[in-house]
Amino acid sequence: MQRENFIQQVEEQNEFWDVIVIGGGSTGLGVAVDAASRGYHTLLLEMHDFAKGTSSRSTKLVHGGVRYLQQGDVSLVIEALRERGLMIQNAPHLVNHQSFIVPSYEWWNGPFYGAGLKVYDALAGKLGINKSRNLSREETMEKIPTLEPEGLRGGVIYYDGQFDDARFAINLAQTVMDEGGIPLNYMKVTALIKNNSGFVEGVEARDMITGKDHTINGRVVINATGIFTDNIIHMDDPDQGDIIQCAQGVHIVLDKEFMPGDTAIMVPETEDGRVLFAVPWHNKVIVGTTDTPIDKPTLEPVALEEEIDFILDHAEKYLIRNPTRKDVKSVFAGLRPLVRPDDSKKTSQISRSHHLQVSESGLVTITGGKWTTYRKMAEDTVDQAIMIAGLEMVHCKTQELRIHGWLKYSDRSDHLYTYGSDKVGIKKLVEADPFLGEKLHKDLPYIKAEVVWAVRHEMAQTVEDVLSRRTRALLLDAKASVEMVPEVAAIMAGEFGRGKDWINSEVREYTQLAKNYILS
Ligand code: FAD
Repeated sequence: MQRENFIQQVEEQNEFWDVIVIGGGSTGLGVAVDAASRGYHTLLLEMHDFAKGTSSRSTKLVHGGVRYLQQGDVSLVIEALRERGLMIQNAPHLVNHQSFIVPSYEWWNGPFYGAGLKVYDALAGKLGINKSRNLSREETMEKIPTLEPEGLRGGVIYYDGQFDDARFAINLAQTVMDEGGIPLNYMKVTALIKNNSGFVEGVEARDMITGKDHTINGRVVINATGIFTDNIIHMDDPDQGDIIQCAQGVHIVLDKEFMPGDTAIMVPETEDGRVLFAVPWHNKVIVGTTDTPIDKPTLEPVALEEEIDFILDHAEKYLIRNPTRKDVKSVFAGLRPLVRPDDSKKTSQISRSHHLQVSESGLVTITGGKWTTYRKMAEDTVDQAIMIAGLEMVHCKTQELRIHGWLKYSDRSDHLYTYGSDKVGIKKLVEADPFLGEKLHKDLPYIKAEVVWAVRHEMAQTVEDVLSRRTRALLLDAKASVEMVPEVAAIMAGEFGRGKDWINSEVREYTQLAKNYILS
């Protein structure tokens, strides 16, 4: 996957693209995979890096959403549980089964949540994982020895999926390419092109690395820009009202010793009505999240002090050892692109179903939804886009389409498992040059070959692309990631043929960015 080659292909393309997708998060990438795999000539344009937005900042769950069941959104739960099953089937190298315990501190918790989770199991049907069951106090403590024992009566264990969101997004970009489409990062759509009848038939896009502008024609343009959805809608019609309400969710990352086992904790309702997770991930524990309405979309949202305090206070309630700010390895925030309801609901109560709309000019907008439902969102969108573009109908193929890197069995004790079948390629780099087998930091598993791989095969353009979304160093240990920067920048500069100035500027920019992930 080489960006320069893709740009050359875009410049040489004189005909209309069948489908142009704006946005390279889970939604846009899913749409591009769907369209390309149906055989449509597909181009995806992402203004920053793939998954730079919300799609790298999730709780990392592939789930039906126990909470939506509580809210009575049964159809969303059924859809998401089915998609959970398909994600596990189509990307087993990145999605794993995850056990969760709902701890019971009140007498009614066990029977109440036990019954609810039986319904959850049943709704999953054939694609279900293991069955949920009630646990005694001893069984609960055995599975999560660091759970707060005072007042604990037992728990309910249930199963969902878990994944690496940014790596999944990179693999989706590679799948777009495998299926004959072109995914381009650092290419920002600055305007829509319309024909004399006012119908959208392309975009103006700026290469954010070279500054060069491109005019690109397409039969249909799909707006999959998440929290930036309204910006594109306003390019189409400046008088349109906003449809997106951003809701911020924050996570903190702790060392594994706070929760050493494999089982996660799920608190279905904190006293202010939120759901809280503590989930093992890449040898650390992620704890979150919050639900704070935010007025303006931004690619780098920053955790609020009260959000950090909320999470630490609750972690303290459920864990034996109380984590303090000093224990936080990283804090990251993401903005949910929620579709504003007609009534003024709290953001936590707004439905997570997706929203598909077509404007009078033929601009197709897809937003809302969940990472878990990205494939179904894409299927619905492309079905609609085919009609707008007047393309010959080809049915969706993604239900059984293997995602790039597909590998049924992988050795999870080797951190390179997230590359799936591409792991062999990384191993070959090390065989050819043992220097590339060296670790980049003593506290994180990443090796130098991954940087080379990210540049050569995963379109990484900056140090941030490597440390945040090709590896997950920024999220796992923000301070350690800063210490890795000079080495990563030097390897990348070697690959790109860049000099000292580029290295210095990358070091400066990354160090500045990482400050928001480090708690003082
Ligand atoms: P984004 O990922 O934000 O992608 C939109 C992209 O469009 C961005 O990359 C942006 O740069 C690009 N863009 C914008 N404007 C332009 C332009 N002019 N030109 C080119 N590109 C442009 N879901 C789950 O299923 N499981 C979970 O555990 C989960 N946890 C979550 C936790 C939190 C805290 C949050 C916030 C969300 C969570 N979600 C979860 C929901 C899920 O992450 C989102 O629904 C999903 O990532 C949204 O993807 P998206 O592609 O619509 O948006």
